[in-house]
Amino acid sequence: MIRNTKLVDRFLRYVKIDTQSSEEAEEQPSTQKQRVLADLLAEELEALGAAVDYDREHCYIYASVPGNGTADTALGFIAHMDTSPAVSGAGVAPRIIGTYDGTDEILTTEDFPELLHHIGEDLIATDGKTLLGADDKAGIAEIMNMLEYFFEHPEIKHRPIRVALTPDEEIGRGTENFDVARFGAAQAYTVDGGKLGVIEYECFHAAAARVTVSGRSVHTGDAKNRMINAVRLAMEYSAMLPEAETPEHTEGYEGFYHLDKIRGDVEEAVLDYILRDHDREKFQARKNVMLQNADYMNRKYGSGNVNGINVHGKELVRVEIRDQYSNMAEIMKDHMELITNAEDALRSLGVEPVTEPIRGGTDGAALSFMGVPCPNLCTGGYNYHSRYEYASVQEMEKTAELLILLAKAESEG
Ligand SMILES: [Zn+2]
Repeated sequence: MIRNTKLVDRFLRYVKIDTQSSEEAEEQPSTQKQRVLADLLAEELEALGAAVDYDREHCYIYASVPGNGTADTALGFIAHMDTSPAVSGAGVAPRIIGTYDGTDEILTTEDFPELLHHIGEDLIATDGKTLLGADDKAGIAEIMNMLEYFFEHPEIKHRPIRVALTPDEEIGRGTENFDVARFGAAQAYTVDGGKLGVIEYECFHAAAARVTVSGRSVHTGDAKNRMINAVRLAMEYSAMLPEAETPEHTEGYEGFYHLDKIRGDVEEAVLDYILRDHDREKFQARKNVMLQNADYMNRKYGSGNVNGINVHGKELVRVEIRDQYSNMAEIMKDHMELITNAEDALRSLGVEPVTEPIRGGTDGAALSFMGVPCPNLCTGGYNYHSRYEYASVQEMEKTAELLILLAKAESEG
C-alpha cells in the first residue's frame, strides 16, 4: 500500500529522467541531460510558490520561501540532481514493491540482509538494469514535499527557507559554481544520506600523494651494478607502508593509505596514493610517513645515486602531496545545534538518531569550509550507485516530516 502519493509521484517523475554526470567533461554541467530535470524542478518550484533564481549557465537552482514566524535566519536544504557515472541511469524503470515481505527476485536478503528491517514497508526498486537514482532524487522529492506542506499550511510558522539543487555532485564538482550569496542561508543540511535516522557531520581529511621513482635502464646483459630498476624500488616503497591500513581493512574512524594506481618501467615508476583520516594529527602523520619512507630510501641507496650511478640528477624517490578536502567536523563543532536539532526532530518522529562518520567527502564538507556549515541527513535510500539501489517509502515519508520539523524549529518560540 503506497500512502504518500505526492511524494512517491514526485520521486518517480524525477528518477525517470536520466541525469547521469560524467567525469570526462570539463564544462558544468558535465552533461546536458541534467538540464532536463533542472528545468522541470525550476518550473515545479515556481508552481509551488517559491521564488526561483535559476543559474541556467551552470545548472544550479536556488529557491527561497520567506519565513512567517519570528525567526529571521534562513535555513537551507541542498540536494543534487545528477546520478553516479558508475551505473547507467538511462531508462530507469522503477518497480514498486507494495508491502515488502522479504522475498524479491532481485533484492534478496541473502545478498542484502539489511532488507529484513524493511519487511512490511513499501519499497521502490530497480528492474536490475540501471540504478534507481534515490541518490539523490529521494532528497529532492522530500525537499519539494516540505515546501509544498508549508505552502498548503500558511498557518504553520517556519523559518525562511532556502533550497539549492546542484549538478555534478557525483563527480566531486557539486560546489564548483555554488554561489553562497545567491543561496542566502548561513546554515544548511544536505539531504543526501541513506538509512533513516543517520546524521553525518564528520568526514575524512583527504590528500592525494604521488610517489615518483626514477630509475636507469641498461641492457639486462650489462646491467650489473649499473641498472636502477624503478619498478622494483616502487614495490619496495609500497611494501614499507602498513599493510593493514588500507580501505579493505579499515572501518569507522580508521584512516588509510590507498594505492590507487601504479604504472612504470625500469626508467620511471609512479605510485598514486590517496591518504584519508578523520583526525587532523593522524592525517598529518600519514603525510609524514610518506615523506619519511622516501627519505629513508634515498639515504639507503644514496640520493640520486645507486651503486655510484647518478639517476638523471634527480632524487631517487620523490613525493608530492596535494590536499583534497578537510573534515567538516572542524567547522561543525561551532554549529552543533544543527545536529541536536536534527536528533531532537528524529526522536519526536520515533526514530533513534545515529551519527556516523562519513568515510569519504560530501558537498556539505566543501560548503562548510565555504562558510555554510552543512551536515548530511538521511533520505531513506539504500545501495547507492548500484543496480540494487532501492528506497523505502515509509523512510522517505519520515524524512520529509523531519525536514518540516527542522524548518519549523525556532520559529514558534
Ligand atoms: Zn548523493
